[in-house]
Amino acid sequence: MSEEFLPFVRPNITPETIRGVAEVLASGWITSGPQVEAFEGELSTYLGGRSVLTYSHATGVLEEGLHALGIGAGDEVIVPDMTFAAGVNVVLRAGATPVPVDVDLHTRNLDAARVEAALTARTRAVMPVHFAGLAVNLDPLYALAKKHDLRIIEDAAHAIGARYKERLIGSFGDIVCFSFHANKNLTTIEGAAVATSDEAVLENLRLRRFHGQKKLDDGGYDILLPANKFNLSDVAARIGRDQLAALDERNRRRRELAGLYFEALAGFDELLLPARGDDGHAWHMFAVCVPFARLGVDRKTFREAMRARGIGTGVHYPALHRLTVCKPLGLHAEDFPNAERIGRETVTLPLFPEMRDGDVARVADTLETVLRG
Ligand SMILES: *Cc1c(COP(=O)(O)O)cnc(C)c1O
Repeated sequence: MSEEFLPFVRPNITPETIRGVAEVLASGWITSGPQVEAFEGELSTYLGGRSVLTYSHATGVLEEGLHALGIGAGDEVIVPDMTFAAGVNVVLRAGATPVPVDVDLHTRNLDAARVEAALTARTRAVMPVHFAGLAVNLDPLYALAKKHDLRIIEDAAHAIGARYKERLIGSFGDIVCFSFHANKNLTTIEGAAVATSDEAVLENLRLRRFHGQKKLDDGGYDILLPANKFNLSDVAARIGRDQLAALDERNRRRRELAGLYFEALAGFDELLLPARGDDGHAWHMFAVCVPFARLGVDRKTFREAMRARGIGTGVHYPALHRLTVCKPLGLHAEDFPNAERIGRETVTLPLFPEMRDGDVARVADTLETVLRG
């Protein structure tokens, strides 16, 4: 019996969405316009009425957030060592110094104690990542930020629809950034959004989002600063509107599938499973740690063997301190034992809402065959 290849992620664009996109394409207005306005309104409503701006990509939002806070040369920004490379690139691009800190082995999130230990007189901001959709323990982090006058830019790329203590991520918090990249829980192909209650930051972000352009009463415009452009297209926003409407149900299914993984992998003592979290977990991905060195296999061979048996996997992520771009920071692997281990051992298993229950069993069985021979 040959079964269909199971990728580790697959975006779901419905036939209704495709019809809606076709209408936008035929409408004569395809870049930022009425669809973006509607999508921003719906996102704002979803996030409890907060101000929301959409963007072309989250890497841009994270960087613009730093600019809007005036963070640059001489400033330090604390980031988790276990995250996507954008987390460090944006800080470097803003001219500031990224300060990676180790994460918890199980939640893969940073915590207030580790952040506090990394504070210096130059620390201006923290960029926590809600890893895989599991909310960072935010109360102690915001308490620390208040005490030391720090700003927090939440990298919520994995966390649209996730909750912290019953509250939706993005419905509170300083500056919260979502990604709508093709692999994320809500996609616009490429795209992003930021939510904040800081009106000054919001106005600055809005200005900086489109060339630094200010519309004038005479119908013309002025350019107030040499900004970039990050606006979302109406075609993308149209996709996002349907994705948002389906988000909670799709995240519920992700939680269900994650639950099935925990059952199917319960007896697999070699694996380090991710922290389970609670019902607020958005389960953007299900990543396990495999002790490759101890088992005498390398990750590449393992992933090829999985692929040969019809199962796609991913690697999220190499630890930041390992990246060439971080060399000038002079980091030492010993300072990041958890991120180092996760980076070496992590494998992302297939998880997307359209998977069948039987797919989880198939992944678990294949994993067992490949690892135990
Ligand atoms: C996807 C992702 C980003 C970047 O998002 P883009 O929209 O692709 O720019 C940033 N941080 C994390 C943790 C991500 O997973």
